[in-house]
Amino acid sequence: MEIKVAKNAGYCFGVKRAIEMVEETLKKYEGNRVYSLGEIIHNPQVVERLKRRGLIVVRDIEDVEENSTVIISAHGRSEEDIARLKKKGCRIVNATCPYVRLPQSIIKKMSSEGYLVILLGDREHPEVKGLVSFAKGENIRVVNTNEDFGGLEADKVAVLAQTTQNREDFNKLVNSLLGRFTEIRVFDTICDATKIRQEEAIKLAQEVDLMIVIGGRNSANTKRLYELSTRYCKRVLHIETEKEI
Ligand code: SF4
Repeated sequence: MEIKVAKNAGYCFGVKRAIEMVEETLKKYEGNRVYSLGEIIHNPQVVERLKRRGLIVVRDIEDVEENSTVIISAHGRSEEDIARLKKKGCRIVNATCPYVRLPQSIIKKMSSEGYLVILLGDREHPEVKGLVSFAKGENIRVVNTNEDFGGLEADKVAVLAQTTQNREDFNKLVNSLLGRFTEIRVFDTICDATKIRQEEAIKLAQEVDLMIVIGGRNSANTKRLYELSTRYCKRVLHIETEKEI
């Protein structure tokens, strides 16, 4: 049996960086309370390992002790949340991936300039919740590719995507918007790691009889790789560990 492994299989830059930041912080503040707001990355096995080393994972800011250390996950957080943590006297270690910071700043700028921001993304994903908070007023809509834009009124729109969205879907969305507004500005905010892995998954899925995608079930990136692979390969498995094979 021949086994092919994707050249770029493994953690992306943003995930590696976040894990390293947690490990360094736990070491530096050993014996003190170190929190992460939500899961630092969407990989249950890694999160469990970090919890065993002392990381405290909480969902709400209310559960964070005053004057403690809080690590912001790779998906980012809203400006309001950061301000609330500062008010509690917390030391903030910001592990937001630089690829997520880019759409945050674009949304802030474009919405302030009066553009309606159209964001392709999953409304429930922490990255998207954080991104929405950077928009000024009501100048943002989170959409999927099947959205009906019939009732949408705006002269100028800015279009961008959650960093882990599928490129084909983004292109489809942009094409569906052309001709509907006076001005459309398109920002390619799908991160390089996502692009490369999606391209590799598509290529590999066409070459093999069985495709195995390994990653967290709650990871948007992994789910997208699985979904893309099913378009090109009849047998695709999404697993978290080798025990599931
Ligand atoms: S934005 Fe890209 S590089 Fe950053 S954590 Fe997400 S997938 Fe990884």
